Amino acid sequence: MIATEAPAVLDSWRGLPAAQQPGWPDPGALREAVAWLSVAAPLVTAEETDRLTALLGRAARGEAFVLQGGDCAERFDHVTPERVGGKLVTLSRMAAVLEAAAGVPVVRVGRIAGQFAKPRSAPAETRDGVSLPSYRGDVVNGAEFTAEARTPDPWRMVRAHRASAATLELVRPAGVHTSHEALLLEYESALTRRRAGGWYDTSAHLLWIGERTRDPDGAHVEFASRIANPVAVKLGPTASVREVLELAERLNPWRVPGRLSFIARMGADRVREALPPLVRAVAAGGVPVVWLCDPMHGNTVTAPSGHKTRLVARVLEEVAGFFEVHRAAGARPGGLHLELTGDDVTECVGGAVSARDLPLRYESACDPRLNRDQSLEVAAYGAGLLRD
Ligand code: PEP
Ligand code: MN
Repeated sequence: MIATEAPAVLDSWRGLPAAQQPGWPDPGALREAVAWLSVAAPLVTAEETDRLTALLGRAARGEAFVLQGGDCAERFDHVTPERVGGKLVTLSRMAAVLEAAAGVPVVRVGRIAGQFAKPRSAPAETRDGVSLPSYRGDVVNGAEFTAEARTPDPWRMVRAHRASAATLELVRPAGVHTSHEALLLEYESALTRRRAGGWYDTSAHLLWIGERTRDPDGAHVEFASRIANPVAVKLGPTASVREVLELAERLNPWRVPGRLSFIARMGADRVREALPPLVRAVAAGGVPVVWLCDPMHGNTVTAPSGHKTRLVARVLEEVAGFFEVHRAAGARPGGLHLELTGDDVTECVGGAVSARDLPLRYESACDPRLNRDQSLEVAAYGAGLLRD
């Protein structure tokens, strides 16, 4: 029933280079938490997961458009009907706007009910001469700048499972699929279960691999290659044609439409030059792929106030570039991947939010999110491009 039945499948990532894993200080506690997760209730079913693969398959053929969005990092103490409901309403409104323009169904996928692990550029953070481990998401440690909070605690993986289950109760009636970055391999492999169609990571419907962990020979790609879920990979401007073709071959060897999505996050300045060779090579290689545009992560800047922010104008510019590249290649863009919230935050600059407003309601535990109005602005802009 559980992992121990076929360790060769679920543990094949062990021993390969695994970037961005926390240094768990207590191996005994790690073993116990993983044992708890190995018999925990699955969060999603294989049937739901297969249904999403089929919907993404339609997107791969240009017969559907994908909207994936939610927090950069979810927080345990934000699992409330108001906050989760706000995200779901925002996603639904955006989907309605896009669907009216696209003339095809919009597949809604939340960065939700499990988006608790964060890759970090620096392993440590220094404030006033004090250096502590970086915050790696609520599933690993606490955001508070104290030695106690920042010490990785494996029991947080159990709390993440509970928080995901509570969030899912709110998400299911809205018909939104769930997704998160498959970063923490102990968590993901402990929640993987054997079903008729293969091994399913039951932590979410779709799992993606981040820009920092997409080494084709690394542990994350190996793990993702073994699960039956739809998977995605983020691609930044340094991704080479060779790497991308290798990822396509490793992650979709049977060429199943909907199994693999690539999420381009090139930056508004780079997308028009960096993306076309990749799109052309993948099309020539014959592996079906859904191309999504993440116009957030290549456009992060630091405001004079010190806040990490993004300009909505640059976000729109990358979306425009992404559409242009696909049109020039004779392909339909597959969808959008956004960091957003339903809350009235001041984290990105644009619309009613100026750079001076950033300190007012900057609540993100990690990257800056579009607020509700800004999210709708991006959806309306995308709708305009879909109509052209
Ligand atoms: C993210 O999606 O929050 C993220 C860290 O993205 P990337 O891996 O593209 O940098
Ligand atoms: Mn982010």
